[in-house]
Amino acid sequence: MKLIKQLDWFIKRQKRTYMIAIILLIITGVVDMLPPWIIGQAIDAIREGSLTTERLILIVSSLLGIMVLSYVMSYLWIARLFGTAFLLEKKLRGRFFGHLLKQTPRFYQQHRTGDLMALATNDLKAVERTAGFGVMTLVDSFNMTLIALTIMGVFIDWKLTLAALLPMPILAWSMNKLGSQIHTRFTAAQDSFGVMNDQVVESISGLRVVRSFVQEEADTKKFDDITDDVMAKNMHVAKIDVLFEPVIKLLVGLSYLIGLSFGTYLVFTNDITLGQLVSFNIYLGMLIWPMYAFGELINVVQRGTASLERIETTMNEVPDVSSTGTVHIDVPEKITFKSLSFRYPNANRESLEDIVLHVSRGETIGIVGPTGAGKTTLLRQLLREYPIDDSLLVNGVPISDIKLETVRGWSGYVSQEHLLFSKTVRDNIRFGVDDVSDEALDRAIHLAAFDTDIEHLENGLDTVVGEQGVMLSGGQKQRLSIARALLKNPEILLLDDSLSAVDAKTESRIIDSVRTSREAKTTFIVAHRLSAVAHADQILVLQDGRVTERGTHDQLMERHGWYYEQFIRQGESE
Ligand code: ATP
Repeated sequence: MKLIKQLDWFIKRQKRTYMIAIILLIITGVVDMLPPWIIGQAIDAIREGSLTTERLILIVSSLLGIMVLSYVMSYLWIARLFGTAFLLEKKLRGRFFGHLLKQTPRFYQQHRTGDLMALATNDLKAVERTAGFGVMTLVDSFNMTLIALTIMGVFIDWKLTLAALLPMPILAWSMNKLGSQIHTRFTAAQDSFGVMNDQVVESISGLRVVRSFVQEEADTKKFDDITDDVMAKNMHVAKIDVLFEPVIKLLVGLSYLIGLSFGTYLVFTNDITLGQLVSFNIYLGMLIWPMYAFGELINVVQRGTASLERIETTMNEVPDVSSTGTVHIDVPEKITFKSLSFRYPNANRESLEDIVLHVSRGETIGIVGPTGAGKTTLLRQLLREYPIDDSLLVNGVPISDIKLETVRGWSGYVSQEHLLFSKTVRDNIRFGVDDVSDEALDRAIHLAAFDTDIEHLENGLDTVVGEQGVMLSGGQKQRLSIARALLKNPEILLLDDSLSAVDAKTESRIIDSVRTSREAKTTFIVAHRLSAVAHADQILVLQDGRVTERGTHDQLMERHGWYYEQFIRQGESE
């Protein structure tokens, strides 16, 4: 079975637990087969008039004993098997989450959040059901069928057994047909559930925009259409789902009919006793569950396989940035862009072309230019989010040869969109840094000019900022992110237009702190307001992905180019 192959890493690890559960299950199956046999014997004894009181007491007490034993054993194997299934769900979720953490922007460009959430919840649940309920029904139904059929065939009558089994091939054929349809339809239903999830995420996170553009109705209509689709696809699954039971009922009924009529005939011809016919029918009744279970098994396994395939497709995606680099560099003394060009995956033109830059540790680099010029793209090269050739070197070593964790560990990136967690201000600032002293925290807050804001927050540092920091203003979010980066005190600080939402006075205060606190470390500042980079050791002007001007503030002012014009224009407007 494909599913078992896909899950063999887990099954191998849990071999012992599965074995114990299965052995207990088999023993329970055997124990459950005893009562019909005992009852048949009792009936024959009544018919022969040989049933004594002592024998009756013995029969009743053994039936009671068997019940208790079966109860205890069932409890034990169910607890083990389902416990293992939950463990599988947890492990799969952990692997899936770990996989998501390793992915680069390209992956997130291709997979939408809602769909990933659907995989992590709904699909994983379907796999868990297969590993718990699926395995249980598989072993249980196989076991019960085998034991019941053996007893029926060997100890009662093999002709009768065969006759009662005549409808079975039809059952197997129908289940197979229904199963493959469930697989296809369930995959489609799960896909559309992913799309719906995605719409929910997008609508809720973009609620402000939706409201301000009065798009509530259009958004609701769109959502209705999507939920209609989800419903239609699930109805499509349900239409097959409901066929399982009637088909099984019909065929089981047929088995009963054959068993009873042919069995009665055999009693008349004295081939079997009345007690044996009663036992036979009880066994036949006991086969109803395995048949149902078999149908359900096909259903559950097909759903589980469909879900696992969806998960595996995502899990099999290898991050496009390889983590095979092995070189460890303690301190990035020199960063060299050696005629670096870069094109985003799926883009039709270069976003950076022929970038040449030499940066020594401790320098501040300002990057300016019109919007869309490639400033962010340049910074992101230092985060190794995209595959890159040998044109970016650190201490003379191509960045792709350096350990990925080392590279990412150096940098502190303050992005344009401020990513905050729905935790307290304190937790947001000290994110990723263990053991922070109160002094260090206060210092980072002071350097980022965030201290007065904290005084105004209801619970100060313990104020919970809400999802994505909804409680904070744009400028506050920016300064919180800067405080977070300054607390980490990274070797390479990347400020991506991080001062756009603060006034000129606060900006100059933050720039001063960055200058003094990072004297020995490297800082890249991307800015639209040129005053934020005027102090930099080197300033690059990027236009259309190319460096068109470079130098210090004074050199660029003398050049009377783009930088000069912008500087004068910005001076006039302030
Ligand atoms: P801004 O000042 O507006 O932030 P920027 O100078 O930082 O702009 P970038 O974000 O680096 O500009 O973008 C440079 C170019 O790369 C733009 O033309 C943009 O459309 C393109 N680009 C950015 N991100 C991607 C992406 N993920 N896939 C394809 N193209 C992209």
